[in-house]
Amino acid sequence: MQTNTLKKRRRRKLRPIFKILFALIIIFTLIFVLNKVFKTPNTVFEKKLNLKSVSAPDYVDVELIPKGIARRGTVLKEINYIVVHYTGNPNSTAKNNRDYFAKPDTAVCSHFVIGLDGEIIQCVPLNEKSAASNNRNIDSISIEVCHIDETGKFNEATYNSLVKLVAWLCDNSSLTEKDVIRHYDVTGKQCPKYFVDHSEKWEEFKNDVKEELKKY
Ligand SMILES: [Zn+2]
Repeated sequence: MQTNTLKKRRRRKLRPIFKILFALIIIFTLIFVLNKVFKTPNTVFEKKLNLKSVSAPDYVDVELIPKGIARRGTVLKEINYIVVHYTGNPNSTAKNNRDYFAKPDTAVCSHFVIGLDGEIIQCVPLNEKSAASNNRNIDSISIEVCHIDETGKFNEATYNSLVKLVAWLCDNSSLTEKDVIRHYDVTGKQCPKYFVDHSEKWEEFKNDVKEELKKY
């Protein structure tokens, strides 16, 4: 009997604690849900607009391709991703790829091409759609990256420029390294090959972008 009374007393003592815990869980859940629903959409939208209104940094060589089949001049309404590609054309330069995009009968183009010496050429303005990432063309910035051989591995100069450019794009938008995807993530295509074959290197790359972003 005594132990039963003690148990009851203990339970009675614990009841207010449970009530407080329950109230706290409800409050935190409400805060979480409200935060998700009203996640400062205006700020995000304005930031996304900023990316479209800014011009590329000094180290980017702006050589826009003429409007045609590839660059149609369609306005990019929102930017939710940065898509990384490899050219699939060993030893070609950034200029080679840019000039290929500029041909009147070419149907593909990317916003940027990064070359073997780390040079970056911009082919399409940031406020226009490119034609590189299939159904993600509608809301992404695309980067084609040059490589030396069939493995598709980027050399140090190319890799460093890629990290720098992607971090710059993230800094000028509401995007983070988590919004950087491979062409593979859109269609399952083996592009960029090295980062599909070595997914741990892809994670390492995104981490390098994250580190680079800390400098801003
Ligand atoms: Zn691709």
